Amino acid sequence: MRDFIYTGQANRVVFGAGSLAHLEREVDLIGAQRVLLLCTPEQQLLAEEIAQRLGKRVAGVYAKAVMHVPVETANAALQEAERLQADCTVAVGGGSTTGLAKAIALQSALPILAIPTTYAGSEMTPIWGVTENGLKKTGRDARVLPRTVIYDPELTLSLPIGLSVTSGMNAIAHAAEGLYAQDSNPVMDLMAEEGIRALAAAIPALRDHPNDIDARSNALYGAWLCGTVLGNVGMALHHKLCHTLGGTLNLPHAEVHTVVLPHAIAYNAAAVPNAMQRIARALRSEDAARGLYQLAKDNGAPYALRDIGMQEKDIDRIAQIAVQNPYWNPRPVNAEAEVALRALLQRAWQGAPPA
Ligand code: NAD
Repeated sequence: MRDFIYTGQANRVVFGAGSLAHLEREVDLIGAQRVLLLCTPEQQLLAEEIAQRLGKRVAGVYAKAVMHVPVETANAALQEAERLQADCTVAVGGGSTTGLAKAIALQSALPILAIPTTYAGSEMTPIWGVTENGLKKTGRDARVLPRTVIYDPELTLSLPIGLSVTSGMNAIAHAAEGLYAQDSNPVMDLMAEEGIRALAAAIPALRDHPNDIDARSNALYGAWLCGTVLGNVGMALHHKLCHTLGGTLNLPHAEVHTVVLPHAIAYNAAAVPNAMQRIARALRSEDAARGLYQLAKDNGAPYALRDIGMQEKDIDRIAQIAVQNPYWNPRPVNAEAEVALRALLQRAWQGAPPA
């Protein structure tokens, strides 16, 4: 048994189809009386319905959450929270909306109640991110970890099937890298393997029956586990590559994760055989990297970077950036690794199976 440190993070999770019905109780438990609801413009209707449910507990609805949390959006939302004397934010939506609540909390320490409607997992992490002048700054701060999370699979029924699959793959990426994190621990290993297992079973089921509430519940359960792993241990090469591709080339978040994951896992495979065994077992596949590639491909997700907007000429630049200030990785990412990373990106760009 290896040595480890495990720090439990305190937040409350309420899970189940129809659990939105407990929202009033959960707001009262936080002690909030002036809730600011946050959402994207696309999910305003849902937020308005939730506002009606909360009645006099609502101070306002702010429907301007957008991708990557621009600093201007974060500042405007904070001003609105102050103007309305909000004492809590309720974030209804995906990682972009939760991200806005976190940016507010970072400045004001307002407690967050998150109601996730994708599988991104931000609601289980103390990680914040704000974009200024095209650069995304991220950090960890206990104040931004949502106090309460309501996981209601019924709210994910409207998630388009394409985004459901890529969002699920995005969640799997957190667990897969968590299994070989420098600061991994046995508790997160259990959650990671179970999270991958739940999502790997749910994705094909959802593809066939997007309205199957059991499959939706399984996927959200997997997303919770995988998000918890992301919130507890460090990420490695895969997340570095995705942040570089997303940040530098503005490629779509969940799709980038989906395409890159099998290749990053193949890059690390020989260095971390135990993690590979767990991933493969959870996928019910002979091989971790090929199992992930097949899961995406078989379920209609993109599997080539060229199909999601990357140009071949950008491969060199991304490989160069990825070796500068790399995250810790089980297989070193140093100057010599640039050639191997270029080959990895070339395969991912073409949509070839992982090496
Ligand atoms: P998103 O929040 O950007 O949502 C994408 C679109 O889908 C939005 O228009 C949204 O309104 C819509 N949508 C969400 N749920 C829906 C539903 N159930 N039905 C219909 N439409 C729905 O996408 P995302 O993938 O959830 O989040 C991505 C962002 O989250 C990225 O910026 C990423 O960096 C961040 N993120 C942060 C963390 C963290 O720990 N800080 C973790 C994961 C992701």
